[in-house]
Amino acid sequence: MNESKDFLRVIVEKDLKANKYKEVVTRFPPEPNGFPHIGHAKSICINFGIAADYNGHCNLRMDDTNPTTEDTKYVEALKDAVEWLGFNWGENVYFTSDYFPKIYDYAIELIKMGKAYVDSLNEEEIREYRGTVTQAGRRSPYANRTVEENLDLLEKMKKGEFKEGEHVLRAKIDMGAANMKMRDPLLYRIRHAHHFRTQDEWCIYPMYDFAHCLSDYIEGVSHSICTLEFENNRDIYDWVLDTLQLEPPRPYQHEFARLGINYTVMSKRKLLELVNDKYVSGWDDPRLPTIAGYKRRGYTPESILNFCDQIGIAKANSMVDVSQLEFCIRDDLNTKVPRVMCVLNPLKVTIENYNGTEELEASYYPHDVPKEGMRKIPFSKEIYIDREDFNENPPNGYYRLTSEQPVRLKHAYIITCTEVIKDDSGNIVEIKAQYNKDSKSGSDTSGIKVKSAIQWVDTKNAKSIEVRLYDRLYSCENPDGLEDLNPNSLQIIKDALIEPAVITDKPDERFQFEREGYFYADPIDYSDEKPVFNKIVGLKDSWAKKTKTDEKTPKREKKPETKKVQIDGEVTPMSEAEQTLFDKYTTELKLNSMISDILVRDSQLSSFYEESLSHLDSPINLANIVANEVSRELKEKQLDELKFTASDIAQLIKMVDEETISNKIAKQVFEEMAKSGENPLKIVEAKGLVQISDPAVISPIIDEIIAKNPDNVEKFKAGNNKLLGFFVGQVLKATGGKANPKIVNELVEQKLNS
Ligand code: ATP
Ligand code: MG
Repeated sequence: MNESKDFLRVIVEKDLKANKYKEVVTRFPPEPNGFPHIGHAKSICINFGIAADYNGHCNLRMDDTNPTTEDTKYVEALKDAVEWLGFNWGENVYFTSDYFPKIYDYAIELIKMGKAYVDSLNEEEIREYRGTVTQAGRRSPYANRTVEENLDLLEKMKKGEFKEGEHVLRAKIDMGAANMKMRDPLLYRIRHAHHFRTQDEWCIYPMYDFAHCLSDYIEGVSHSICTLEFENNRDIYDWVLDTLQLEPPRPYQHEFARLGINYTVMSKRKLLELVNDKYVSGWDDPRLPTIAGYKRRGYTPESILNFCDQIGIAKANSMVDVSQLEFCIRDDLNTKVPRVMCVLNPLKVTIENYNGTEELEASYYPHDVPKEGMRKIPFSKEIYIDREDFNENPPNGYYRLTSEQPVRLKHAYIITCTEVIKDDSGNIVEIKAQYNKDSKSGSDTSGIKVKSAIQWVDTKNAKSIEVRLYDRLYSCENPDGLEDLNPNSLQIIKDALIEPAVITDKPDERFQFEREGYFYADPIDYSDEKPVFNKIVGLKDSWAKKTKTDEKTPKREKKPETKKVQIDGEVTPMSEAEQTLFDKYTTELKLNSMISDILVRDSQLSSFYEESLSHLDSPINLANIVANEVSRELKEKQLDELKFTASDIAQLIKMVDEETISNKIAKQVFEEMAKSGENPLKIVEAKGLVQISDPAVISPIIDEIIAKNPDNVEKFKAGNNKLLGFFVGQVLKATGGKANPKIVNELVEQKLNS
């Protein structure tokens, strides 16, 4: 376990200390409506990991409450993934559907308590009655039904006497609740559909919010860990369990941030589309971020576990760079797998002064790896090297074979090019070469200097293999949809050539192909007649280089700023109105896309922002404070509960624009405004926060600090420029952050250089 504990483990330990639970019980509760992806791996690692760390137990529970999208094949894929990652769920896999009878009984209990009712409004009316974030909802006229009526109707719903949508069961909570989810949430709905487990036994199905908390309770779960998007559902979770006055202990919900990775999509819905519409070969296509995909590509469970450990557990959504995952697999395989020679793109070399054949002995592993194993590599007059390893007109820094420059054949001899043979169209078809008989690897007495060693195979004994090279599935970091798919994400090489031992010895399933990367014998398509290898990952992060060079060329194909920003792991498309506003903000007002995205996706925020703009023409500074500070306040409060107005915010930013106060002080003033509702000008005045820009005031402070730090002055004068920051920081600190940083900077520089 890590030295520093994540916040979930801190909670678990506190609960254990307080004797809240006898045992830590967590659960991993996927909906079996798709194959699990790397995001699920994170959740699996957290839930099973915490259970293991505290000698508890983690249940694998299929959250199968939606009959129309679920299937047994997904159940199997989920079990497979958990098992492959090395976790153990014990005797049984649990299913929410097994609790349908109990959950139904709890519904009856709520009705009897007067806490639930059958509503007969249609979907649209329900939405309308719910109100908006700024407006309380109204309760349905059907909420007045008597307990008897409600019991009777629910029974009839269960018996299948109604059509879908005719009635729903709702909790009676609060139609004016600030948390919209608490406005009489739905508990049951009618679905005349076949369920893959309960068949046609039920035609009403419990909603997530009702089924999940009760399933947790029924299983004796202590810590119900889920992702942040369920934050607002926590109130219902608590309401259901508390209202039913269940025998303690009860579970509590805790949220963590979802994992998002760039250059891919992570929602099962989007993955399903790729699979169904055949953009990929199946759920286990090695380009997908599914566990089945990684497994087939050749990732090891250890590399995925390491990755999940490295990214940690946080409470803020963020996007992880896929190169971090690639690093983990490279790191894992580096010391584990045999290194062999494979030529992806063969070019024939005839070594004219070599006659006969021999078998060279070579280790599968480099010296610094504590693994052993040898193989024999046949060598003869005719061999293949990679086309890329010969160049007639080499650029600077080209270290491989050229017409003038010799090269070492790895584990064999040094060769020199004597002739380049071309076809009628001028393509190189063969190289004639000479070898030096004293240059054999391990006993080289030739004295010839070469700059590199390249892979090769012998023509007679090499085996033909198919190699599948994978690149990123999408060509941009935050893919929007199918149009962002990378057309070159799969490249198939039908006739690559590999040294024979790989096929005949089969020393492993994973290999490093020297100078090419890590490869895995495809578990499905590999056969002795046609061995197939998947590229797992390259030897280094070639993508980072690629994008950098791309930056030099004009980015014409790149879409302009209208691109949506991924904030939440998954991007939901903007409505047309939101998009129009987004475009206006990014182009006319020149806001960055991240800030614009935050503003337009929340109508409260955007209207607040627009109002502040009507008081002050300072679009960027206003947008920043609204998207950051004001939005934080609005997470906990409604617009009309805020203690400040848009005009107050405009006054505050005006002081920043006029350099009366610094940005840092503005944040401090904002906190005060949010708490007390005091006018910003008054706060600044009362607390004496006005920015000090007068050199006559700042100068003596600087002099004092310079006098106190003669050593650092010396170092600065000797050329350590970084110390400028030290002095500026000291001055700002001495003035409680009130000194104008620009002026301090200028003055400090002047004084130190004088
Ligand atoms: P998706 O939106 O990708 O379809 P989901 O949230 O609907 O995923 P579920 O099968 O309901 O998937 O999720 C099972 C568990 O895995 C839940 O606890 C969920 O919070 C967690 N989970 C799903 N996606 C991620 C992710 N990207 N990062 C971390 N945990 C995730
Ligand atoms: Mg879901």
